Amino acid sequence: MTEVVTAPQERAAEELSRISHWIGGRTVPGTSGRSGSVYNPARGVVGAEVDFASVEEVDAAVAAAREAFPAWRALSLSRRSELFFRVRQLMDAHREDIARHLTREHGKVLSDAKGEVARGLEVIEFACGIPHLLKGEFSEQASGGIDVYSIRQPLGVVAGITPFNFPAMVPMWMWAPALACGNCFVLKPSEKDPSASNYVAELLKEAGVPDGVFNVVHGDRVAVDRLLEHPDIAAVSFVGSTPIAQYVYERGTQAGKRVQALAGAKNHMVVLPDADIDMAADAAVSAAYGSAGERCMAISVVVAVADVADPLVEAIRTRAEKITVGDGLEPDSEMGPLITREHRDKVASYLDSGREQGASVVVDGRDTAPDGDGFFLGVSLLDFVTPEMDAYRDEIFGPVLSVVRVDTYDEAVRLVNENPWGNGTAIFTRDGGVARQFQFEAQAGMVGINVPIPVPVGWFSFGGWKASLFGDLHAYGPESINFYTRGKVVTSRWPDPATSSVNLGFPQTR
Ligand code: NAD
Repeated sequence: MTEVVTAPQERAAEELSRISHWIGGRTVPGTSGRSGSVYNPARGVVGAEVDFASVEEVDAAVAAAREAFPAWRALSLSRRSELFFRVRQLMDAHREDIARHLTREHGKVLSDAKGEVARGLEVIEFACGIPHLLKGEFSEQASGGIDVYSIRQPLGVVAGITPFNFPAMVPMWMWAPALACGNCFVLKPSEKDPSASNYVAELLKEAGVPDGVFNVVHGDRVAVDRLLEHPDIAAVSFVGSTPIAQYVYERGTQAGKRVQALAGAKNHMVVLPDADIDMAADAAVSAAYGSAGERCMAISVVVAVADVADPLVEAIRTRAEKITVGDGLEPDSEMGPLITREHRDKVASYLDSGREQGASVVVDGRDTAPDGDGFFLGVSLLDFVTPEMDAYRDEIFGPVLSVVRVDTYDEAVRLVNENPWGNGTAIFTRDGGVARQFQFEAQAGMVGINVPIPVPVGWFSFGGWKASLFGDLHAYGPESINFYTRGKVVTSRWPDPATSSVNLGFPQTR
């Protein structure tokens, strides 16, 4: 996590913008005395300081949400839907502004940042249909004179804890369905790129979301732990790395909360000998190096089956070498920096360990990284990677693509299925029968057929299997409606004194 600053800033802190909490519909400066530095990773300089919440500040946010809950849950579905249309309209009008926050603090190029906002908007559009999504079921005359129906009700105050790599979209995965279902929300965004969350909070207020319905607390483990143990938090959605996801899931469920914790990934793209090599190479390069590989759905392993390997590696190499790396705000840049200097160095270390462990470094991104203080690493390609190597075993989360060569389709599927993670996977082939077989047997939550990043559209749900998800329900889409509500079944009879009698037997239909 970002280094915690406990002493007053030595440098001219007043020159830096300060990112504070958003509680009860207004900015609330932190008083804990702890803060973190937010970098502009393209320039390698600190651009802002973010306040880190104390336990009391988290409690204040939860209290504001709790106070807002009764009126918010009572708001009619028509009004909530109308409000979400306004939220959608404002987010759409401010796409570019949100995207600029992302590029400045995360580093991804502006076009990619706009794509992130667009994918988040899909979830808000889904939430606009909340009156339809919350319709229950009804059985008239389930028993003589008795009707039975089901309804879904909000949980109360729910929390979201989000990663650095999608500072706008992943929070939208959570707060949009949670609010639409009638819950109030406390968001703890990544401390590395926190300002988009405050900007979105202001837009929600402008759209008419009542104060206290949406709150943001910034910080580190202190804030996370308080959210996980706070008695008034009913559910926690988490997205981040596997060790922290497991921690959040175990601690949150021990405290009696509903938890969904989406975690890390190692996504394999299988390329069969009959695939269109150019299409597969375009896809591999786009999916491996987009957002500098800092996507949980990035392709990090290409599994080249039989004699497709040589021409495929060559096609990837020629494309990779042409990618322009630079500041995401520059229109020519296709790939930006990594999130921190430490992360950039860690990612680059896999090129050395790969070489030492027997892989061949086809493209070394250290040779092509732009000069300056930015946290840049150029695109990198490792060939002849094997499952024992660190580059294969770890989630690198950077622009390093590994090629594993296998002889058969069966070997490729075994590799996918034996991997501890199971977020996404893809197959490239012209053979519909094999593609269907792959869809049938791949152990991953999201499968692409000639599609390298199969992130489901907003009206399906997003989630992985195995070590990529702790919990049952996936994010956004229909599963989010189940996550953010509780079911209730009502059995009803209108009084009919003529049939009233005492009967101590177990109620039976008649
Ligand atoms: P991270 O796990 O370091 O941080 C995620 C959140 O947890 C942040 O808000 C952070 O402040 C908090 N956190 C970090 N350390 C903590 C600790 N010790 N105790 C309590 N809270 C802590 O993840 P990241 O580096 O921000 O994001 C990258 C990771 O997220 C990658 O592993 C990536 O695969 C994963 N990710 C997964 C998905 C998915 O849908 N499965 C989507 C996006 C990112």
